[in-house]
Amino acid sequence: KKNNGHEPEFLQAVHEVAETIIPFIENNPKYQGKMLLERIVEPERTIIFRVPWVDDKGNVQVNRGFRVEFNSAIGPYKGGLRFHPTVNLSILKFLGFEQTFKNSLTTLPLGGGKGGSDFDPKGKSDNEVMHFCQAFMNELYRHIGGNTDVPAGDIGVGSREIGYMFGQYKKIRNEFTGILTGKGLSYGGSVIRPESTGYGCVYFVKNMLAVENKTLEGKIVSISGSGNVAQYACEKATEFGAKVVTMSDSSGFIHDPEGIDAARLAFIMDLKNLKRGRISEYADHYESASFHQGRPWGVACDVALPCATQNELNESEATVLIKNKVMAVAEGANMPCTPEAIEAFQKARVLFGPGKASNAGGVATSGLEMSQNSLRLNWDREKVDGKLYEIMENIHQSCVLYGKEEDGFIDYVKGANIAGFVKVADAMLAQGVV
Ligand code: NDP
Repeated sequence: KKNNGHEPEFLQAVHEVAETIIPFIENNPKYQGKMLLERIVEPERTIIFRVPWVDDKGNVQVNRGFRVEFNSAIGPYKGGLRFHPTVNLSILKFLGFEQTFKNSLTTLPLGGGKGGSDFDPKGKSDNEVMHFCQAFMNELYRHIGGNTDVPAGDIGVGSREIGYMFGQYKKIRNEFTGILTGKGLSYGGSVIRPESTGYGCVYFVKNMLAVENKTLEGKIVSISGSGNVAQYACEKATEFGAKVVTMSDSSGFIHDPEGIDAARLAFIMDLKNLKRGRISEYADHYESASFHQGRPWGVACDVALPCATQNELNESEATVLIKNKVMAVAEGANMPCTPEAIEAFQKARVLFGPGKASNAGGVATSGLEMSQNSLRLNWDREKVDGKLYEIMENIHQSCVLYGKEEDGFIDYVKGANIAGFVKVADAMLAQGVV
């Protein structure tokens, strides 16, 4: 209400949470009268700054940088940086707000934050990306710290960008400390961190299906996106015996009825991560595949994993998926399904995993990276993957605890919102009005 009318994504995220939290507060006197919801929707601090840098032609470019430090009730602010031309305050506030609940769900001591810039890494040379990252850190460094605020990657920010930003922080502060997660393995990163959001999402789906005595074996899976989250969701779903038949990028989607197996996924990883090419090139390479404009939700599947961006699956697409008998939908991306799409899935009793639960594996593993940095130790793959699996299982259980309806249907949206809220609210109550 407070003059946020120009922030539609933020309002959408708050609305979705408020719908389940308000009835919960009304039934729990402990949470009444302290303006908890009103406080939780207001970021503790928002920093907006100029990022001037010089491109390869010697021209000065100016971008806008942001860091939204949303909530530190249960730990240092934690959440990714997004570099994409669409970045604005509304998008970062929605992401920071969601992050607060998600981080609470992981059971780790992590507060919520988010940041980024309207910088577009697409079409920029390596040198330009480095100069931008350094200029971005020239301001951000004064706001972050291992016990204060620990950013990570998000859309447009992968290991390359994290490396450049980490290098600049170290140069300015003359200290080697875990101020970013998603770092390379040679300088304090954790194994499994690149895989963790995609893997975690599939672990969550495995748990959802298990409630109905189903598994991923032999299931047809449709994935959107072809970035970090999508790639590893594809890898893990395939490992669990599913056949992934779609992936996409902002230009369209590919449909491969033969399935994107390990070798074909390796082609996509090389194409997107190294060559920075378009997904349509997959269809040029594999005869069984076709490229289409738009989004992949018209393709019949048992499980849908939207892993690209916000609001990329709407009500009419949900209706088509339901007609095609989709049994589970889990958000690998943040808020990819519109509120109307979510309502349609829930009405049709399709298992629906909201991002704050189903994609929490990434930040959880970032939390594990922070622990390893503090201990100055590196855990092996088996240990980190085991912990990730356990965390996703626990998040699923929390959703069941707070989201199970009388008829046995699990409302994962309600479950995740309430479970995430309770821990943050209890900490805020204990710490007084600050
Ligand atoms: P990447 O940048 O690695 O990949 C993003 C993918 O989404 C690309 O395929 C990109 O296509 C596509 N995409 C981006 N914007 C749009 C758009 N407006 N319309 C259509 N497609 C689009 O990002 P991530 O994989 O890291 O992130 C994807 C989602 O997952 C985001 O919502 C992010 O917030 C969320 N997430 C990420 C986590 C992580 O650990 N990385 C953790 C939790 C959530 P193109 O190549 O054409 O740009």
